[in-house]
Amino acid sequence: MFDRLCSRLIISNRFKLVKHFRFYSEEKVNTVVSAIQPTGPVHLGNYFGAIKIWLDLQNDPSRQCIFNIADLHSITLPHDPISLKNNIITLAATLLASGIDAEKCTFFQQSRIYHHTQLTWILLSLLSFGRLSHLPQYKEKSTNLKEIPLTLLLYPVLQASDIILYKGNEVPVGNDQLPHLHVARDLVEKFNRIYGFVFPEPKPLMSDDAFACKVRSLRKPEKKMSKSEATPKGRIDITDPPEVIRERIMKAVTDCHSNISYDFDGRPGVSNLISIHKLCSGLSIDQICSEARSLTTEQYKSMLADLVIEYFKPIRFKYLDLLKNVDYISAILNKGSTKAEMIAENTMSQVNSRIGLIPYK
Ligand code: AMP
Repeated sequence: MFDRLCSRLIISNRFKLVKHFRFYSEEKVNTVVSAIQPTGPVHLGNYFGAIKIWLDLQNDPSRQCIFNIADLHSITLPHDPISLKNNIITLAATLLASGIDAEKCTFFQQSRIYHHTQLTWILLSLLSFGRLSHLPQYKEKSTNLKEIPLTLLLYPVLQASDIILYKGNEVPVGNDQLPHLHVARDLVEKFNRIYGFVFPEPKPLMSDDAFACKVRSLRKPEKKMSKSEATPKGRIDITDPPEVIRERIMKAVTDCHSNISYDFDGRPGVSNLISIHKLCSGLSIDQICSEARSLTTEQYKSMLADLVIEYFKPIRFKYLDLLKNVDYISAILNKGSTKAEMIAENTMSQVNSRIGLIPYK
């Protein structure tokens, strides 16, 4: 009886979903799930390594995309509540200004959908402490901590919930996140084996653009550009004012040669600038080096600064404009939550029914 009720509920929700999703149909089953943490401004690495890929995916009619602001992940380590509140809005504004279109994808704030944490609790029963404590990121991040928050151990399970709650089968990831995606795949395999098929296997979507996958720090080009680098001088945030972008590029670490050539091992600083040039212009490395043949490093840096400033100018204007209307941003996130919640409800009805947690209504 309950199963019949459940399947009626699922079917009626499906009809509602059809109205909300351009791409929801039996033939177009690829569901992409991805998230970004509201831990500070978006830099060039985040833009080329993640956001630009989201833009391509949301415009692909064979996929439905579920993108969220992963605020629950950003409290994995101690945080400042006021900064978090602000970062959620500025990240939403940056993503919208970059071209994320809430009509083409489901765009929402993770913590608004309680099912993420509910599913996490259920999945935890399928995993061992040993499996999680051997993950490379846990080992690396916990090394110097006196007290290790449990969230640091458990967040890969929240990541798994983020994906499978929406039955995601394509997950854009970098190499560093692959071990976590394996956890999600193991959980899917185990859940389906014990309780019957509910979740499709989440597969990695890896970018083949090596330049976009690793934008390097302007100060330490042997490392990735990162929000957590001690100095912000190694970073360009995409909403930085022109004078900041210019200063960061002019002071980027290079070497004692004054010409422009690409050789990542021998000349990592200049080569990183050429990589950024390639990402912003679409030109090949050879074209860039040939155009810059007669320039000194300083002249080249100045030309690159002009290019980067121009490239991000429309995003910066739109971002500043959006921030004048926080209510508008909140309304978009609210609408996204409503869409996300319907899918999450459906999945959790199935999960609860399969594992024996039958709600009485
Ligand atoms: P994070 O905020 O560091 O968790 O990163 C959000 C997204 O940006 C992830 O998909 C990362 O793989 C990507 N990302 C972060 N830093 C870089 C970088 N320096 N180069 C390319 N992609 C990056």
